[in-house]
Amino acid sequence: MRIVTIIGNRPQFVKAAAVSRRLRETFDELIVHTGQHYDDELSQVFFEELDVPPPERELGAGTGSNTAQTARILAALEPVLTELEPQFALVYGDTNSTLAGALAAAQASIPVGHVEAGMRSFDRTMPEELNRVLTDHASDLLLCSTPTAVTNLEREGAAGEAHLVGDVMADVSLAFRDVAAERSRILEELTLEPGGYLVVTAHRAGNVDDPARLEALVTLLERLPRPVIFPLHPRTRARLDAAGLAGRLAGVTVVAPLGYLDFLELARHARAVLTDSGGVQKEAYLLGVPCITLRDRTEWVETVESGWNTLVDLDADAALAALDQRPPAERPELYGGGHAAERAREVLAAYTARL
Ligand code: UDP
Repeated sequence: MRIVTIIGNRPQFVKAAAVSRRLRETFDELIVHTGQHYDDELSQVFFEELDVPPPERELGAGTGSNTAQTARILAALEPVLTELEPQFALVYGDTNSTLAGALAAAQASIPVGHVEAGMRSFDRTMPEELNRVLTDHASDLLLCSTPTAVTNLEREGAAGEAHLVGDVMADVSLAFRDVAAERSRILEELTLEPGGYLVVTAHRAGNVDDPARLEALVTLLERLPRPVIFPLHPRTRARLDAAGLAGRLAGVTVVAPLGYLDFLELARHARAVLTDSGGVQKEAYLLGVPCITLRDRTEWVETVESGWNTLVDLDADAALAALDQRPPAERPELYGGGHAAERAREVLAAYTARL
């Protein structure tokens, strides 16, 4: 049984790191890399550090608007799927690669599985939300990270078969924690004391594409207690340069996007993490590090309900107030305890046996 996994950006390489290894115990799995992220620091380093099997095909379909990129990936996938003849296609998360992958496979009558199905922000202005909803409704097998995701799919009457498997990104975070502690020297390199610094990531279109919102983000960063470590995503760097705002980050330690192990080690010892990333919100929770989310809503609602994540949007006063809060005593297991990929493989084996 051949499965084609279609991935193309940073968080998808992390997710595939958990699942591909498991899948290959049972299936003939091939990876197609769409090229949505192509810089070494957003792509190659994840394949190397997390031991993701090398892609069978690279489509080189990065750059351009969401529409142009989705269209290019869709067109490039058609002949590749014809050639590789998979019996099943797997997509992850909520990017243009996810939607194009699901659509190309569905149009070729190849059953589709969506990992991280059913996540919703209920904000249709987010490109990711549109991708999630459309992908879920084009998919046959919906592999969910949380009970909330399953409920979202039931409410929408999604036609595919939904299963709660847990979160595959959590598998990777838990599995690589000790490896990161052993191999990463990031705290020494940046001369940081455990618990004595903040980590920031920001790259959502809603925060960086609108110059007024971008300036609010910079103002918030200016007001945070130092040291503040900001691994700068290329999209954010480009927007800061275009808006002439990069100079205002002089008091912030701006570094290039980090590899997975360095980022995990850095986040693990931070006083708090401030982020607009979905993956980083989860990872902070798993590490027991308070998270301050630079959005007004989240798909990962359990982290907020448990008291470990505070939504502040770009309100600097709210962010500073959240920093002063003591973290809760309890941190219940939310994301499957590191066994999501195993469960995903079992569900896939049972499903494909019926094809
Ligand atoms: N990450 C990383 N280096 C960084 C910032 C993030 O390795 O400098 C990892 C992080 O640990 C998580 C993933 O990238 O596993 C999150 O990716 P991103 O924020 O791009 O995507 P999102 O989760 O928002 O879709």
